[in-house]
Amino acid sequence: MGQRRLAAAKVLVVGAGGLGSPALLYLAAAGVGTLGVIDDDLVDLTNLHRQVLHGEASVGRPKTESAQEAIARLDSRVRVVRHDTRLTRDSAPGIIRGYDLVVDGSDNFDTRYAVGRACAQAGLPHVWASVLQFQAQISVWWVGRGPCYRCVFPASPPPGSVASCVEAGVLGSLTGTIGSLQATEALKILLGVGDPLVGRLLLHDALAQTWETLPVRRRVGCPDCDPSAQAGEDSSTRPDLVTVTPHWLAGIGSDQRVRVVDVRDAAEREALPGPAAHGIPLASLRDGTALQSTRLGSPEDTVVFVCRSGVRSEEARALARAAGWRYAVSLEGGALAWSRWVAAPTSPAGSSGAVESSA
Ligand SMILES: [Zn+2]
Repeated sequence: MGQRRLAAAKVLVVGAGGLGSPALLYLAAAGVGTLGVIDDDLVDLTNLHRQVLHGEASVGRPKTESAQEAIARLDSRVRVVRHDTRLTRDSAPGIIRGYDLVVDGSDNFDTRYAVGRACAQAGLPHVWASVLQFQAQISVWWVGRGPCYRCVFPASPPPGSVASCVEAGVLGSLTGTIGSLQATEALKILLGVGDPLVGRLLLHDALAQTWETLPVRRRVGCPDCDPSAQAGEDSSTRPDLVTVTPHWLAGIGSDQRVRVVDVRDAAEREALPGPAAHGIPLASLRDGTALQSTRLGSPEDTVVFVCRSGVRSEEARALARAAGWRYAVSLEGGALAWSRWVAAPTSPAGSSGAVESSA
């Protein structure tokens, strides 16, 4: 049964380098059915000490092509989807669409933030790691369960303050350790076993040979996963955020600045339970009584409206916005979508938008 789940799974690995090499090999060997590989780089002789997917014969060729050959040698049944491009903030949402999970083995901040944002907004688990010299960090960002990448790393360090792998070097075998751990976390999530590294940052020092775990939390106002921040962010260029997903809502927990309001009557709510919420009937929003009382909380708070399927909650959202609640949003798909999410929090996000290689 576990093997069938893996065969049906679609995993995108960002970067076919030091971390991506062991991650891809172990995911393929474990029987993951579809592996997306994104990298716009060519194999260089100086990569080979840590990028064990590639050999001398691949020098000068695209890393995705070399990765595809290495995976085919291991298990020809694995479907490899090559993305010979650079993942950017604009292209990321389209690239990750259709995958169940993303393993991030990228080596630069721009790509990490782009991956983090796209995963946070799609509610996908993002198995992230970073390695420098003898130190490594790894975590699973998963909005709906815990923080996203930007919750914990709000801004990239100023250029030049952190040496890159190329400048500072990295111990090849350490990328092997950490990339293998990323594969382990990905497999745990796909199989639904154990406790993934959600809400925990694992720090490793290879010289001292120590491992340490730090708890990490969601951050109110995070521009990648908090709709109140998203609503205020470059609002001139992007459409206002009006809906949130069950993934997002589940990750909110008991955040004081987020109020969940169910606009259905008591009998309806009992018949189809939604998320924990205050009950405020739609009629009292229509006639304005609920908007004049304190029942909706402060207009500065995020209010998430819930109904059965998302139609009445959208009306409630519009009424609240008109009355000054700038951060009113509606739960997409309502209590129906919520109950589906509760039953299967890792359900895949639709069909793949990836371009498949013919090779
Ligand atoms: Zn966040």
